[in-house]
Amino acid sequence: MDATRRFFISADLEGVAGVVASEELRPGNAEYEWARRLLTDEVNAAVRGIRRADASAEIVVSDGHGGYRNILPADLDPTAGLLRGKPRPLAMIDGIRSGDEAIFIGYHPRAGARGTLSHTFDDAVLDLRCNGRPTPRACPRR
Ligand SMILES: [Zn+2]
Repeated sequence: MDATRRFFISADLEGVAGVVASEELRPGNAEYEWARRLLTDEVNAAVRGIRRADASAEIVVSDGHGGYRNILPADLDPTAGLLRGKPRPLAMIDGIRSGDEAIFIGYHPRAGARGTLSHTFDDAVLDLRCNGRPTPRACPRR
């Protein structure tokens, strides 16, 4: 039996510390380049924390914002794997496996909720529920 722990990090951009404006979320803006640096740094901090707790853990990072190409691959801790780009059948959590220890970084509040850059998918969805509970994202398949 394989006892290696697997950590799955799903990383969005809107909830990263310091990100506060929609311009920071869109490629083509200088602010976006700054925001993706912050995102990469937050993910690397999580990877370092996991390594301190479990040096042999498998760590997989799922880039979860927009086109799924925000984390700076060359600057990501080389001990972590990176899932980026499309297709993504499970969107932000594509690549997660049963038994993974999941970590969510940079996530944002749902549409209408108090918080920075709150939304649900996009501005057209005002309420989404998963098993009766409000959520800012898709309900995982069972
Ligand atoms: Zn996002």
